Amino acid sequence: MPPEVVVPSAVAPDSDQAPVKCAIVLFGPPGSGKGTQSQFLIKRLGIPQISTGDMLREHIRCGDDIGQAIEQRMRAGLLVPDELVNVLVAERLSQPDTGRGFILDGYPRTSAQGRVLIDLLDRNNAEAVVIHLLVDYNIIIARITGRRQCPKCGTLYNLLSRPPKAAGVCDLDGEELIIREDDREQVIRERLDSYERQTSPLIAFFRETGRKMYEVDASRVTPVALSERICELLDCAAWSGKQKKPGHSQDGSRS
Ligand SMILES: [Zn+2]
Repeated sequence: MPPEVVVPSAVAPDSDQAPVKCAIVLFGPPGSGKGTQSQFLIKRLGIPQISTGDMLREHIRCGDDIGQAIEQRMRAGLLVPDELVNVLVAERLSQPDTGRGFILDGYPRTSAQGRVLIDLLDRNNAEAVVIHLLVDYNIIIARITGRRQCPKCGTLYNLLSRPPKAAGVCDLDGEELIIREDDREQVIRERLDSYERQTSPLIAFFRETGRKMYEVDASRVTPVALSERICELLDCAAWSGKQKKPGHSQDGSRS
C-alpha cells in the first residue's frame, strides 16, 4: 500500500497586495511547436517550467519516500495515481522560484487533476492562464509526412520547407531518402486523435470554470511570430512586479 500522502498546506495570500502568480498552462498537439514556445516563455519571463515527468524521475533518482512509493507502483504495473502527482505539484508550488509564475508542462492531464490544480492555485494566490495552440491538422500532417531522412548520413529534409536538390536522394551522398516510422501519416493521425481525446475535456473544464483561456492559431505563423502573439496575450511587458489587478477578486466577481 502506498504511504498516505498529505497535500502540503497552501500558503495563504498575505494581503490584497500579494502579487498574483501566473500559472501558464500550455496545450498543443504534436507538431504545434509547444516545446519551442515553452522554452521562449521560460527565457523571456524568467519563470520555471514545472514538468511532472521530471519531478517523478527526480524523486525516483534520490530514493526518498515519494520516490519509493512511485517505484513500488511502477513495479506493480500501476499508474502513478493522481493524488501523488497532485502532491508533487503542490510541493513544487511552495518553492520560492515560482514566486512570479510558472509554466505547467504535462499537467493537468485529466479533469480531476484540473480541479485539484484550480484549488491549489486559488490557495497559492495564483491564476491559471490557458494558452491553447490551435493547429490545422491537415497542415501538421503535411508538414510531418513531408519529412525525409538519409539513412546513411542522417540528414533531415522536408519536401515543403527543405527539399533535397534532386528528388528523393540525399544532397550529400546520393543515398535514397526514407520516411521514418514515426512520420507516417497513420502514426501521426493516431497521436493527434489521442491528444484530442485527452485534451478536449480539459479545455471544456477550464472554459466551464471561467478561467482565462486564449486560443492561438499556431499552424500558419513562424515560431517567433507565435511567441510574440503569446507574449502580447500574456502582457509580458507588464510581467515583472505584476500586481493583483484591482476589481478582480478570487471568487471571480468584479467590483
Ligand atoms: Zn546522406
